[in-house]
Amino acid sequence: MAQNSGLGWTPPRERSRYTPPVHEMGIAIEVYRTCRETVEAHGGGRLQQARLAVGELSAVEPELLVYAWEAVVEDGPDAGAELVIEWHPADQRCAACGEAKDRASGSWMRICPDCGMPLEVSGGDELDVLDLSFETTEATG
Ligand SMILES: [Zn+2]
Repeated sequence: MAQNSGLGWTPPRERSRYTPPVHEMGIAIEVYRTCRETVEAHGGGRLQQARLAVGELSAVEPELLVYAWEAVVEDGPDAGAELVIEWHPADQRCAACGEAKDRASGSWMRICPDCGMPLEVSGGDELDVLDLSFETTEATG
């Protein structure tokens, strides 16, 4: 007899191994489409690697995005194509202290650890394909 039958739910740890989150899945599909369009615009071929800038404020989990990417490409002509994430932290600056700061430890709020003023945040919301590599198929026709 199967264990846990009838419970009606799957523990998140097990579930996430087999079904990439919808959010990252949508982004992976979008990124892949951008890559395909770029490859086609350069004569076509098999995608080998794409490099993606991901800002820390873009609400994307890099590991989940790579996992979703693998699910997107695995059954297509670009199976095995690699997605490389380049992590871009946001620049956080305190208007009062005039310096770049880390957010106060133990808080998710962006507060200056020295004076408690809100930090001005810039950047960190990137979600851009930086470059990609592919092999052309014209030689093998
Ligand atoms: Zn400050």
